[in-house]
Amino acid sequence: MLPYGKQTIDDDDIAAVVAALKSDFLTCGPEIEAFEQEFAALVGAKHAVAVCNATAALHLAILVADVGVGDRVITSPNTFLSSANCAAFVGAIPDFADINPTTYNLCAVALEQNWQEDTKAVIAVAYAGQSPDMPEIARVARSHGAIVIEDGCHGTGGGFVHNAQSYKIGGHPWADITTFSFHPVKTMTTGEGGILVTDNAEYAAKARLLRGHGMVRDLDRLKGLGADEGPLAEQGPWMYEMQELGYNYRITDIQCALGRSQLRKLPSFIERRQEIVARYNEAFVALPWLQCPQVLIEASRSHISWHLYSVQIDFEALGKSRTEVMAELRAQGVGTQVLYIPVHLQPWYRETYGYEVGKCPNAEAYYAQALSLPLYPKMTAADVEKVISIVSSLRASE
Ligand SMILES: *Cc1c(COP(=O)(O)O)cnc(C)c1O
Repeated sequence: MLPYGKQTIDDDDIAAVVAALKSDFLTCGPEIEAFEQEFAALVGAKHAVAVCNATAALHLAILVADVGVGDRVITSPNTFLSSANCAAFVGAIPDFADINPTTYNLCAVALEQNWQEDTKAVIAVAYAGQSPDMPEIARVARSHGAIVIEDGCHGTGGGFVHNAQSYKIGGHPWADITTFSFHPVKTMTTGEGGILVTDNAEYAAKARLLRGHGMVRDLDRLKGLGADEGPLAEQGPWMYEMQELGYNYRITDIQCALGRSQLRKLPSFIERRQEIVARYNEAFVALPWLQCPQVLIEASRSHISWHLYSVQIDFEALGKSRTEVMAELRAQGVGTQVLYIPVHLQPWYRETYGYEVGKCPNAEAYYAQALSLPLYPKMTAADVEKVISIVSSLRASE
């Protein structure tokens, strides 16, 4: 069975984890900082804060951006729940602007049209690995004084071209904060894990503080608990202070050892994914009832770190429902997935914010025809050809 996505774990990854297990630290040790530095260097950001998952990274991004009750956050409806939930975590209103029908990414024109005065941040998602039009999204957001958070969970190590110059997700001037996920289905993994990157030293320091209970142990950074007498008068090397209300969003040394090992192979993962995408495109362009993923800027193609191979299928023209197609593919060993159900149509969103069908017509139309085919580095050439031949014969085999 070929799943729609899968991790790549080699002997060197296992050796890295074993070495971490044999070291003095399982958590809060040197692997975390080393991973953060290597990751920041890779994407070209000044600071990185590694955390237990990308949902936590998005929550921290929202907190350091000072978003809260009375604020609105606009994101894409074509994303995983976390990109919107993070706004709800802090009592802000998660809102949605429609997607571009070609790239399935947040549309800057729709963003401007749906802007409301209370919008404090925009979360731009790089769906499938392809970046939305970040310069244009940032222009709209910043013209209103809002912060740009980039959800780069699908695009680790990837980038895009703008005005003939190449930029990396997390390392360009059109996002204030970027998050990545290391869930096993994503481009590289730490089991569970995530990271927040930013060039803003204050954001990074605040995220670091909130990652660990808002607690400070560093004697130089202690504010002093402020008592001249009583139980707090004596200050010593045991001191710790809670300076903010924080969380336990820590990642472990074991995970970061795996992350460092994966990071060394990330370029080869991206390259293999690009090869598979190119072969799929070449084969599927002949199918009139199937639309291959399209890129916004052709020059960006060689920079994209593809997480998903999501196609649009005209199920009516094919004469089969999506459920039938998925079952037929599964019976022949090809796993597929549907990504994503538009977030605004989830029951909790409809009940809590009154969102209705029709709010984001492009995302809803996209969802109706969406199917993600297997894509991961460990797929062999034979696996890829098997998917192509089985998908191509969906019509003939009725
Ligand atoms: C996977 C994903 C997340 C959440 O990542 P976790 O590490 O599982 O919390 C957030 N946004 C997008 C777009 C994702 O695909």
